[in-house]
Amino acid sequence: MSGIRPTGYLHLGNYFGAMRNYVRMQDEYPCFFMVADLHSLTTHPDTRALSESVRRVLAENIACGLDPEKVALYCQSHVPETTELYLYFNMLAYKGELEKTTTFKDKARLQPDNINVGLLTYPVLQAADILLHRAHLVPVGKDQEQHLEMSRNFAQRFNHRYGEVFPEPQAFNYGQELVKVPSLDGAGKMSKSENQNATLYLADDDETIRKKLMKAKTDAGPTEPNQPKPDYIDNLFSLMRLVSSSEVVAEFEEAYTGCTIRYGDMKKQLAEDMVRFISPIRERAAAIHQDDAYLKKVMQIGAEKARESASKTMVQVRAAMGLNYY
Ligand code: ADP
Repeated sequence: MSGIRPTGYLHLGNYFGAMRNYVRMQDEYPCFFMVADLHSLTTHPDTRALSESVRRVLAENIACGLDPEKVALYCQSHVPETTELYLYFNMLAYKGELEKTTTFKDKARLQPDNINVGLLTYPVLQAADILLHRAHLVPVGKDQEQHLEMSRNFAQRFNHRYGEVFPEPQAFNYGQELVKVPSLDGAGKMSKSENQNATLYLADDDETIRKKLMKAKTDAGPTEPNQPKPDYIDNLFSLMRLVSSSEVVAEFEEAYTGCTIRYGDMKKQLAEDMVRFISPIRERAAAIHQDDAYLKKVMQIGAEKARESASKTMVQVRAAMGLNYY
C-alpha cells in the first residue's frame, strides 16, 4: 500500500522512490495505491485545482506502468473508512511525538501562518491509510522512514490495547536501501512543490530537461586520481545510474577516477538518456489525462476494491474496540 499527494507534477523522486516499486509489486502482491487528496489539504487548502491534479496523478501512475485492473488504484477521499480509522488512531497518538516528527517541523517552518492540526496529525492519517488494508509492505522513498516507524507504533498500541488486528508495516524498496533522489542544485531532494528548477518532472518537455541538467552544479573537475566526489557530483552519477546504461556509467566513472572527466559531456549524455526515459512517460500520461471517461471508471473501480478491503478491516476494528453494541 502506498500513496502520492496530488500537489503538483510527479517527478523523478516519486518515480524512483515509489512508483518503480509499485509497478514491480503489482505482479507479486495484492496492492492498494491511492492519490492522497486528503493529505494534500494540510499544505494546499485551495481545492480549485484538486480535481485536475487528482486526474493527472492517476494518469501519470498509469503511464508509468501501473495497471488499474491488477491493483486497487483509488482516490483517498473515496474511502470514508479512512477517516474513521484516523479518528481511532488519534486517540492512540501523543502530541509530543507528533510535534517531534521531522516532516512536521519542516512543513511548519515553511507555512508559519497555517500550522494546522492536520499537519501535526499527518502521520496518523498515513497510518490509517496503510493499516486500513492491513498492509505489510509500503513502497516509499527515504523521506518516509520515520512515518513508517510511527505507523508501526500506532499498530502496536492498538493491538496491545484492543487485541491483535494489525500487522507492523515496513517501508519497502526492491534495492538494498530506500531511495532519495537528490535535487539538481545539491540542496535537498527533488520535490513536487519546492525547488522546481532543480527537480525533473515526468511532464517536463525535452528542452526543459536538457536545460535543467545543463545548469546542474559542477566544478573544474578532480585534480588527483581517486579523489572522493563532492555531493553535487555524486548526485549526477546517481541520476546517471538511474537512467543510463551500465557501460555509460562505467565510462564516466573511469574518466572521473583518471581525472579526464568533462562535466559538460557528462551532462549532455545524461540529458539525452533522461529525455529518452521521460518522454514516453510524458506522452502516455498526456493521452490518458485527456480521457475523462476512462479515468472516472478507474476511480470508481478502485474505490470499490479499496472499500471492500477497508470495510472488512473496520468490522474487526470495531469488534476489537468493543464498539459493536448489538
Ligand atoms: P513530494 O515530497 O514530492 O510532495 P509525496 O510526499 O507525495 O511527494 O511523496 C510520494 C512518494 O514519493 C513517497 O513515497 C515519497 O517517499 C517519494 N518521494 C518523494 N520525493 C522523493 C525523492 N526526492 N526521492 C525519493 N523518493 C521520493
